[in-house]
Amino acid sequence: MYVNIDEIKNNGNSYYISFDDKINIDENFYPLKAKLYFKIYDNIMEIKGNVKGVVKLTCNRCLKESDYKFSYEIKEFYALNSLLEKYPEEYEIKEGNFINDLNGEKEFDINKFLYEIITINLPNNYVCDINCIENNENIKRYLKNANQDPRMAIFKEIIVKEKE
Ligand SMILES: [Zn+2]
Repeated sequence: MYVNIDEIKNNGNSYYISFDDKINIDENFYPLKAKLYFKIYDNIMEIKGNVKGVVKLTCNRCLKESDYKFSYEIKEFYALNSLLEKYPEEYEIKEGNFINDLNGEKEFDINKFLYEIITINLPNNYVCDINCIENNENIKRYLKNANQDPRMAIFKEIIVKEKE
C-alpha cells in the first residue's frame, strides 16, 4: 500500500489511512491493523497513529515459538525534501525524535513503514512466560553461563533452594 505525498497536500495537508492487510516479517505473512494520520507542515510530514497485530516469536529460553500480541503507538517525522544537504539521512530534531528524509520521493510505502516500526519495537530477548526459566537444557546452559555473571547469582540461589 502506498500513499502519494501530493494526494495528502491536495487533501488539505492531512490524510487518514486505515490499514488492514498482511505484511511479511521474517518470511511469514501476518495480518496487521493500523490507523495512520498524516499531516504535512511545509517540508515536514508527521505520521501519528498505532499498529496492532500478532507475530510468532521464538522464546530465548525454551526456543519454542509462541504468539506475541503487540500494539505500538506511532509518532514519526519525515522531511519531504532534504532540509540541508549536509544532514545525514536520519538526524535528531529533538532528543529522541528522529527525522527521516524522503529526498523528494512522492510515493510513501506504508508496508515498509509499518515493517520498520514493528521490527524496531519487537523485544530482542523474548521469553514466552516468566516461569519458562526452569524448563530444560537450554536454561541449564543459560545458568552455567550466568554463573560467571554476579548479577545472576540470585538465580543460583533459587535453584539451590529448590533442590533442598
Ligand atoms: Zn519459553
